[in-house]
Amino acid sequence: APSSDVILRTERVGRSFGKFVALKDVSAEFRRGALTSIIGPNGAGKSTYFNLLSGSLAPSTGKVTFEGKDVTGLPQHRFAHLGIAKSFQITNVFPQLTVRENVRIAAQALKTRFDIWRPRAAMTEFIETADELLRTVGLWHRRGELASALAHGEQRALEIGMALASRPRLLLLDEPTAGMSPEETRTMMDLIVRLASERTVILVEHKMKLVMGICDRLLVLHHGELLAEGTPDEIRRNETVKRVYLGQ
Ligand code: ADP
Ligand code: MG
Repeated sequence: APSSDVILRTERVGRSFGKFVALKDVSAEFRRGALTSIIGPNGAGKSTYFNLLSGSLAPSTGKVTFEGKDVTGLPQHRFAHLGIAKSFQITNVFPQLTVRENVRIAAQALKTRFDIWRPRAAMTEFIETADELLRTVGLWHRRGELASALAHGEQRALEIGMALASRPRLLLLDEPTAGMSPEETRTMMDLIVRLASERTVILVEHKMKLVMGICDRLLVLHHGELLAEGTPDEIRRNETVKRVYLGQ
C-alpha cells in the first residue's frame, strides 16, 4: 500500500521474555481507515504483538512506525498523545464511581493541564464529552449507575468509551469479547463495526469466525510468527491457515 495509506507499520519486530521468543520478525502494515484483525491460536503471540503496537511493551528487536514517525520504545503516554488508544483493562474502571464519572475522568486526564484556570466551563465540556461517548458505546441510559453495577459486557463497553475519550485515530482492542455471553458478544461486535466506520481499528481475536465477516484485512500469527496476511477471502482459502485452525 502507498505509505500515506499506512497508519501503522512494524518492521521485523520481535519480543523475547528471557530466552523465550514470544514474537519473531513480524513485518506488517496497517491501513488507515481499515478494520484489521490479528488472529491466531492461544499462545500465538497476539497479545505480545498488541502490546508492542499500543506501546505497552517495547520490542526486543525491530521498529514500529506510526504515521511515518518512529515510535519504537516510546513510553505509553506518548502513544496516547499521538492518537493511539487501547481498550482499558478492567482494573482501570473505577467501580465506586458512576459510569459517566469514569468517562469524564478519562476525558479530563489528557486536557486538565490546559483547563486549570477555567474549571467550571471545562467541567461542563467534559460532562458533554462523556455523554456523547456513552451514547456511542450504548451506555448513556446507565450513566448514573456505579460502574460496579454493570454487567461484564457493559464494563468492557465502558472501557472502550474511556479509550475513546482521547479521540484516538487508531483504536486497539485485545479480545474484547473474552468471557462474554453470545448476546453480549453480538452487542460488542456491532459496536466494533460502528467504531470502525469512523476510525482505524485493530482487533485481536482468537475466534476467527467472529471477525471474518466484519474485517477488511487479517494477520494470522502462529508460534510468534506472521503466518499469513490478506483479505478474509484470501485467508479463508489459505492452506497453511486451514491447517493451523484444523479442529478448532
Ligand atoms: P496470545 O495472546 O496469542 O494468546 P501471548 O502474546 O499472550 O499469546 O503469548 C505468547 C507466548 O509468550 C506464550 O507462550 C506466553 O506464555 C508467552 N508470554 C507472554 N507474555 C509473557 C511474559 N510477560 N513473560 C513470559 N512469557 C510470556
Ligand atoms: Mg492474548
